[in-house]
Amino acid sequence: METNLFTGNQDAGPVKKAILDSENYQCTRCGSRTFKEAFVIKKVSGVVMGVPKDYVSVPIPLLVCDHCGLPAPNIKDVNRLLGNKTTTPQQ
Ligand SMILES: [Zn+2]
Repeated sequence: METNLFTGNQDAGPVKKAILDSENYQCTRCGSRTFKEAFVIKKVSGVVMGVPKDYVSVPIPLLVCDHCGLPAPNIKDVNRLLGNKTTTPQQ
């Protein structure tokens, strides 16, 4: 049975209608309305993680613009996540 709200055969319920009628998020650089999942991989100190290794790889998913690759600006602490020193997301 298809469970995807937008590809299945269900009738449009109130939630689906509200989602379809909501404003689209747009990339602040290029205006694209589509995003894809990407991962930042943090190398976290083994001491912090409590394991006998120099570091542990911790993948963190985030959404990036499907056209230009800019991270979606609604991601909390995106610059810190990407290791940027500036306050504006950089490529
Ligand atoms: Zn973009």
